[in-house]
Amino acid sequence: MATKRTVQIGNPAIRTKSVPVPLPASASVKKIVRDLVDSMRANGLVGMAAPQIGINKRIFVTEIRTTDTRRSDGRDPVRVFINPKILEVSARKTADYEGCGSVAYAGLFGIVRRANTVMVAAYGLDGKRFVLRVEGLLARIVQHEQDHLEGKVFLDRMAGMGSITGREELLKRK
Ligand SMILES: [Zn+2]
Repeated sequence: MATKRTVQIGNPAIRTKSVPVPLPASASVKKIVRDLVDSMRANGLVGMAAPQIGINKRIFVTEIRTTDTRRSDGRDPVRVFINPKILEVSARKTADYEGCGSVAYAGLFGIVRRANTVMVAAYGLDGKRFVLRVEGLLARIVQHEQDHLEGKVFLDRMAGMGSITGREELLKRK
């Protein structure tokens, strides 16, 4: 197990557009995926993108489970997305609180509107392409992690700073 320190906003890796990964996945890409899963779990996150461990490659992982800031709305197993593309987003959007491992030391959360449903295509570790229609929390996570690959964070997606909430206040609401 290799838990990597989560790179915080202000570090250029968080603002850099990530590059595609050659497939099938090399040993080093497999190691990045393992490190992402370990780090996501160790940091209580439900998704993590490679730039957050300082690697600007187009890879992210997700896993829905209960964390200290997110009660589980069902569970979803670990999923690996390599070179993901969002093909379609629903017109219907939902506003909800979002946080980020790369904003975690600042302890800030804020309301972000995200599409309820997205269609995402990506490659797995086996190099096979898959297309997935995701909704609800998983759709929100996929959009958040895809943003990381473009050098964006949730703060950029907020309608304004009015909903910025500290960790302590967020925990009171959950
Ligand atoms: Zn994030």
